[in-house]
Amino acid sequence: MSLPMSRRSVLRGAVVLGAAAAVSPLLLTGTAQAYPWSRTLKEGSTGADVTELQIRVAGWAADHAAQSRVSIDGEFGPGTAAAVRRFQAAYGLGADAQVGPGTQAALNALEQSDGSTVHFNFSEFTDRDSGTFNGGKVSAATAKENARRCMYKLEALRKKLGNKPITVNSGFRSIAHNAEIGGASDSMHLYGTAADLNVPGVANKTVYQKAETCGFSGLETYNTDHQHVDSRADLGRSWWWENGTV
Ligand code: ZN
Repeated sequence: MSLPMSRRSVLRGAVVLGAAAAVSPLLLTGTAQAYPWSRTLKEGSTGADVTELQIRVAGWAADHAAQSRVSIDGEFGPGTAAAVRRFQAAYGLGADAQVGPGTQAALNALEQSDGSTVHFNFSEFTDRDSGTFNGGKVSAATAKENARRCMYKLEALRKKLGNKPITVNSGFRSIAHNAEIGGASDSMHLYGTAADLNVPGVANKTVYQKAETCGFSGLETYNTDHQHVDSRADLGRSWWWENGTV
């Protein structure tokens, strides 16, 4: 399912909002505030705010193809610092790895009021049968959180592709729906950490190559009609890049 124009800008138009909601029921409401950063974060900082920072810069894990990821562990080490520098450079900020008000504002600008990111909605990641995050291999709350983390990596991917809109064809899947469509029995879609992407006007190989720098630890071959990405290493699994490093 892809539309020629930015799907998000269409969905946000007041005129079609009702129709869109009827097609795709939105069950998801959530926290309605920007993350309350309360201090400048830098190397050596620890805590829940560092964890949130790591989630948000995880898509800036590497400059070049590398099986490298930002550990989501609440400890601001060199890997987090490097990711912050890349994020800062990409968003026109001084790349000093100090996460103060300017960088915090840039991070919050990527967030929507329901906790999703500015270019992605939870409704794009819910199970295509039920419109929920229920029925997978983890709780609905965990699946939704994994989808949120995926969104931040996709924001980085989108930025690296020159702000090309990314369509998510499949995000979270229930066990039942995954079986219906012949998905792998332990598919990362069952955990909410996977997404199948289409980027109109961009070759899948290019999407794959950019995804190699975004901390994704599961990449399906690019010779398909979509590009699968997932973060299985965040779940303690081994890396799987089907094409290797391209
Ligand atoms: Zn997939």
